[in-house]
Amino acid sequence: MGNGSEKDIVWHHASVTRERRERLNGHRARAVWFTGLSGAGKSTIAHAVEEQLHRCGCRTFVFDGDNVRHGLCGDLGFSPADRRENLRRIGEMAKLFVDAGIVSLAAFISPMRDDRALVREIIGAQHYIEIYVSCPLEECERRDVKGMYRRARAGQLPSFTGISAPYDAPDAPHLVLETATLTVEQSVSRVLDLIVPLLALPASA
Ligand code: ADP
Repeated sequence: MGNGSEKDIVWHHASVTRERRERLNGHRARAVWFTGLSGAGKSTIAHAVEEQLHRCGCRTFVFDGDNVRHGLCGDLGFSPADRRENLRRIGEMAKLFVDAGIVSLAAFISPMRDDRALVREIIGAQHYIEIYVSCPLEECERRDVKGMYRRARAGQLPSFTGISAPYDAPDAPHLVLETATLTVEQSVSRVLDLIVPLLALPASA
């Protein structure tokens, strides 16, 4: 293989670093974390942002409640401890995806400020971008995409965020999207305006 003999090459466990993967991909790796009430638009916006990034040649992946609650976190419920463990696992997964050079987009209600702080710490603050998908409860309830609010109001979901469980709004997110007034396209543009410069590699790299 190439120059020199194989016996001179020492393979280090992590010789292929995140930086080398980023250079190969042509963009930086980041975890973009969408938080907000159920129905606020997190998944819709995360997938639409992914579509745009993918078209531009970025390596991406969307994590959302539906694709982790069935598998990786299928054993967890919605108690505060289980919600925290759910987010801890997703945080660890998002960190691995960042190490793999990927732009991961995570759409989780993630209602507790402390739990989001844990995720930020796991991923590393320099790689974590927090987006608050803000929408009044009444509008989320009006949308009621999955009929969850109706079930929560009927007392069938004992700890449903916004109805029977709290939501701590972020103190200092990188971006707030007011989805009762912005269209999906406008929200996607704002997200791209924020993250595309952060994904750019220095010209010399
Ligand atoms: P979440 O992931 O926050 O639970 P979803 O993206 O699954 O929310 O659902 C939001 C629903 O609201 C979707 O059906 C989406 O089409 C609809 N919607 C209506 N207006 C907007 C808007 N301006 N921004 C985002 N979603 C919107």
